[in-house]
Amino acid sequence: MQGVLPKDIIELTPNVYTEPYWLATAEHRLILPRCTTCGTYRFPPGPFCWNCRAQEVEWIEHDGNGTIYSFTVVRHPVIPEVAEALPVVAAVVELPDTGGVRLISNVVDCAPEDVKIGMAVTIDWYDVRENTTIPVFRLAGG
Ligand SMILES: [Zn+2]
Repeated sequence: MQGVLPKDIIELTPNVYTEPYWLATAEHRLILPRCTTCGTYRFPPGPFCWNCRAQEVEWIEHDGNGTIYSFTVVRHPVIPEVAEALPVVAAVVELPDTGGVRLISNVVDCAPEDVKIGMAVTIDWYDVRENTTIPVFRLAGG
């Protein structure tokens, strides 16, 4: 897979609010927390609903189809360990039917010049190691 950072520098730090999300990604499933009181999607996961301050959430499956809201192309290795992985397309992907949830992720296996704002993308999975999988995106139809 091109356009991802080296596995040995990726370390997740789940907490009580994000753990369900990362457990699902390890199974190649995208789930998003939704407030059980007002129905607002709450991403990134946190202790309180930003809309109504309730705490309880339910986890809703999403198919991972989205659109590129914004992106940048990383070409300069800020740390030497990533030099061979560059360039990397770091994108903000908006997920439909979520009230505007956006994931920050990589757009993989494409030429950076081909990426445009508004393009459709589909989710894929970057298996880093056992129980550690990062969601990434591919240009739809590409
Ligand atoms: Zn709420």
